[in-house]
Amino acid sequence: MQAGLGASSLDDVLRSVFGFGSFRANQEAVCRAVVGGADALLVMPTGAGKSLCYQLPAVARGGTALVVSPLIALMEDQVAKLESLGLAVGRIHSGLDRAVSRQACVDYLAGTLQFLFIAPERLRVPGFPELLAKRKPSLIAIDEAHCISQWGHDFRPDYRMLGQYLPALRPAPVIALTATATPAVQRDIVAQLGMAQAQKFIHGFRRENLAIEVAEVAMPLRLEMVCELLSRREMRPAIVYAPSRKRAEELALRLREVCPAAAYHAGMAAEMRDEVHREFQAGRLECVVATIAFGMGIDKADVRTVIHVALPATVEGYYQEIGRAGRDGAMSRAILMHSYADQRQHEFFLTRDYPPADSLERVYRALTVEAQPMDEIRARVEMEEEDFSRAMEKLYIHGGAEVDFGDNARRGSDGWKKPYARQTEYRREQIGLVQRYVDGHECRMAALVMHFGDGADGRVRCGVCDFCNPTGTLATPMRPMTRGEEHTLRGILDALRNSTGKSLSRLASELGGGITRKDLDVYLAALARAELLVVEDAEWVKDGETILFRKASLTEQGERVEPGDDLEILMPGGSSGAATQTKLKVPGSNQQTTSQRAGNQRGGKVARSGSSKDSRSAAQAVELSASGLELEKALKEWRGEVAKRLRIPAFMVLHDRTLRGIAEAAPRNLAALGAVAGMGPAKTDKYGEEILAVCRG
Ligand code: ADP
Ligand code: MG
Repeated sequence: MQAGLGASSLDDVLRSVFGFGSFRANQEAVCRAVVGGADALLVMPTGAGKSLCYQLPAVARGGTALVVSPLIALMEDQVAKLESLGLAVGRIHSGLDRAVSRQACVDYLAGTLQFLFIAPERLRVPGFPELLAKRKPSLIAIDEAHCISQWGHDFRPDYRMLGQYLPALRPAPVIALTATATPAVQRDIVAQLGMAQAQKFIHGFRRENLAIEVAEVAMPLRLEMVCELLSRREMRPAIVYAPSRKRAEELALRLREVCPAAAYHAGMAAEMRDEVHREFQAGRLECVVATIAFGMGIDKADVRTVIHVALPATVEGYYQEIGRAGRDGAMSRAILMHSYADQRQHEFFLTRDYPPADSLERVYRALTVEAQPMDEIRARVEMEEEDFSRAMEKLYIHGGAEVDFGDNARRGSDGWKKPYARQTEYRREQIGLVQRYVDGHECRMAALVMHFGDGADGRVRCGVCDFCNPTGTLATPMRPMTRGEEHTLRGILDALRNSTGKSLSRLASELGGGITRKDLDVYLAALARAELLVVEDAEWVKDGETILFRKASLTEQGERVEPGDDLEILMPGGSSGAATQTKLKVPGSNQQTTSQRAGNQRGGKVARSGSSKDSRSAAQAVELSASGLELEKALKEWRGEVAKRLRIPAFMVLHDRTLRGIAEAAPRNLAALGAVAGMGPAKTDKYGEEILAVCRG
């Protein structure tokens, strides 16, 4: 049957079953491959239409498609859609009645289902994988497949077992779908699911209507810069991402002199957050200054500008956030401000979140073969609750500790050090990639597309970013080069002429001591924009070790430049850059105080202004009211049940401080719950409804 399905019958199914007039870009190619029985890895951004790529082949192939989905909310959403199309769908997850799940199994075995959705932890239920194998599915879809990779931000240990059960369910084709897989995660998915032959479809990361700008702006100047940018009508509505609650509050306060603006972060009362969300959606607020928590459920099509006032933690996160601009298709802007100080801040977060192996070792040594309550262990090692839980969590994840659902811990295997070091290194690399992105001398959009692994589309320049169109930048004004700069620029061209390219460190040393690496970067970017040279990654193998470095080489055009030729090269900032600072004077009395405050912050406290640090200490400091205490107790009971059900330690379900944060906020909806520190999107999706039920009860 499947062999006979040509293009025209795929079109028929698309129209008659799904009610769509035509395929979107790339959908048809994926459908054809999967209908034909090929394994596929599909990486496309959220909203691109990935679901159809397994749903249509499922209908076309006949039989039952098995769909693994990690989030109950997503699963319910897909099930409802398919049922509304008149398809036969069953589902099994922890939020359902026993009877419903049992019926789904019966229907599956009877072959009356077209789709069976399951949560991954189901596979741990004894007998369930065998039951599935009794009647082989006609297709297996793994949604949100990045959860399988411990490099992914939503790592789900349960996803790792999939690989071990798939062989018994074959020969069905496997299609893995995700929106956020970097090449490393893609390799992980393919390896763990045993789908080495999978066809890869990585598309759609380019956004045509987004002009990206990355600007080096000193921390104390950013606040005024944001105000100046957003004082222009056409730049609004806007979302500004700030690195901490404190910064968000400061910015929102100052922005109110320019337009209706508000902060949005986890420290605000739930009603306030709901209101900000509503008002922004309705257009009465024109700017929201948010910490990372903002964005869940944000579906505002006409956002014109997204500004980051600090270096983001990952390229993927940054891409998601700038993606909130221009959903309506009209031209929009994304502006990222950074400077050297951001790098130091990230290093601070890294050592905080990934403590040195010694402090893990201290906790590990305190563990015994006999299980003991975690509180007692903590008292013995004399560590702060926060440091202790972090060390414990890392040990648990990497096998150094075994913890039962009552939070009693015993010593695990001593092999935890290597994987822990690997994970820390991975995090460090992610920060390095963000740094590489902002320092890059190439088209910003192309760099992002390339980052996600689309090597073909990643070669196409966007034409509108700060690299492609330097005169169009707003946060980084450009000006003609000065005489002195021209001299240096020509010196660089001379140093590269008649060579196959040189590493940047060699280039710097050949140019003599007068130029710093940082200045060299600026000059190279200017020459790259003028298409006289390219800067790219290169590698060199020495003693069997691969050494990565950056290399500059002249283009043909660059080779042709003669000493007497006129050069027209634009440099960033300078005279107009200085003008920006004076131009930024905005009427109002608090300008001085604001920049002073910013200055102080830079001098002393900058490293402490991270959002999670703020939120954690805030949650700890809070004295809960009587009703808050009661809620905390109820939440603890609920957590104990979940821990038992999922057979994981309670603190892996939610940390004490997160529970306290929930008890304090008493959230009434998912958005408010998601804004509580410690409640990432994954936790909110997984436990959200249950927690809300506890809060209501
Ligand atoms: P993803 O999983 O990639 O985030 P979805 O599969 O949920 O995206 O699809 C996003 C939206 O696009 C859905 O509302 C879906 O109905 C719609 N959609 C998908 N394919 C098509 C199509 N060919 N024509 C019109 N709408 C489509
Ligand atoms: Mg999806």
